[in-house]
Amino acid sequence: MRKQENCIFCKIATGEIPTKMVWEDDNIVAFHDLNPQADYHVLLVPKHHSESILTLAEDEEGQTVIGQLLQAVLKVAKILGLTDSGFRLIINCGPGAGQTVMHLHIHMLAGRDLNENLV
Ligand code: 5GP
Ligand code: ZN
Repeated sequence: MRKQENCIFCKIATGEIPTKMVWEDDNIVAFHDLNPQADYHVLLVPKHHSESILTLAEDEEGQTVIGQLLQAVLKVAKILGLTDSGFRLIINCGPGAGQTVMHLHIHMLAGRDLNENLV
């Protein structure tokens, strides 16, 4: 499992930086975003460092990690009680799409007033 020096999400994944954890297993961490954009705003992050969905897809471990991430979505949705009310997933890929932390993550957003104009 790859780690990268000075990567904030690698540090959260190893517990070096404390965070409001929602769920964790050997491969994935899910924690509340520091700057929430909705009532619920959780980040799902693989412990294996890869910059984006593009680099992960061409990574040897990547196929497994993609599956683990999607399994984690179901677990976190159940924990937060969102399976009936629904939620939105966003993956920013690259600075042009607003990616600021260069360690792949899924934003899980839910609650009142989700902007219906954004997909
Ligand atoms: P991006 O713009 O890269 O898709 O999303 C990065 C997200 O990480 C942002 O929503 C930002 O608020 C969140 N974030 C950045 N640093 C930290 C941190 O140290 N802790 C937590 N919990 N969230 C962070
Ligand atoms: Zn990282």
